[in-house]
Amino acid sequence: MITITTIDEMRVWCDAARRAGRRVGLVPTMGFFHDGHVSLMRAARDAGDTVVVSIFVNPLQFGPSEDLDRYPRDLERDRELARDAGVEVLFVPSVDEMYPRPPLTTVHVDALTGGLCGASRPTHFDGVTTVVAKLFSIVGPGRAYFGRKDFQQLAVVRRMTADLNLPVEVVGCPLVREPDGVAMSSRNANLDERERAAARVLVAALRDAVDALRRGERDAATLRRVLSARVDAEALATLDYAEVVDAGDLTPLARLDDGGEVLVAVAARIGKTRLIDNMTVIVDGDDVRADPGITARVPASE
Ligand code: AMP
Repeated sequence: MITITTIDEMRVWCDAARRAGRRVGLVPTMGFFHDGHVSLMRAARDAGDTVVVSIFVNPLQFGPSEDLDRYPRDLERDRELARDAGVEVLFVPSVDEMYPRPPLTTVHVDALTGGLCGASRPTHFDGVTTVVAKLFSIVGPGRAYFGRKDFQQLAVVRRMTADLNLPVEVVGCPLVREPDGVAMSSRNANLDERERAAARVLVAALRDAVDALRRGERDAATLRRVLSARVDAEALATLDYAEVVDAGDLTPLARLDDGGEVLVAVAARIGKTRLIDNMTVIVDGDDVRADPGITARVPASE
């Protein structure tokens, strides 16, 4: 595995790989890897792609009062995990390399970015789509892998790729959880012991909502109350949102009817750390099929 830090070198490497008949699979990340990241790398490798992983803590997607400075980093550890997962190139550009001057050109996806995380992070998704468009342009991947943990991000990137006819297949991968159910996140490293225990409240709220659905509840407002009641009961948690939306266009639902995929999503601050989690659900008569994601076999710290 090699590490590349410049855009020119990255282009040359990817051009050569494509000329050799290989398809490049890109996994965009902000580093500080856990099993969620590793699962995307493995998915790319298992699909037969030449795997390029980018690590770039993108300032453009952080608001002025957000945790850019506190975002965890450990490049040496990331290198080992990526190498073990069969990654061929780590692309680790500096901020100056990616933004030699403040960009006058950004990519904005409308509508899908207004609710959920976009409501409290109004500039976040423009930062995400701008950097992902740049990475697609630099790397030229045939496929790019994103986690369903960031369900809205996946939907936004898919739409950008379709609207701009970018020649990239966007692959959504399962949400990976810690053994206690908490969604894996680099930001979990910023939680102290009490906060880490309190973080379980997000998945607990989602399970409450799915249980209510299984008992026959179909009113979205009631389900939102179920979600927020659980989060509000945790003293260390401050709710950002508790939502029940159409998983396709992310618009809020009034009732959950049969057939369509529904996204049940929560975001909360635990101390200073903002965490998100979600489950998708398909309602088919009395049958409620929830996708809680997958559980990692061992804690990421072992
Ligand atoms: P990040 O480094 O947090 O920006 O995430 C990079 C990629 O990994 C994104 O596509 C995320 O959706 C994905 N990812 C992060 N956490 C998880 C998780 N727990 N399960 C699956 N994918 C994840």
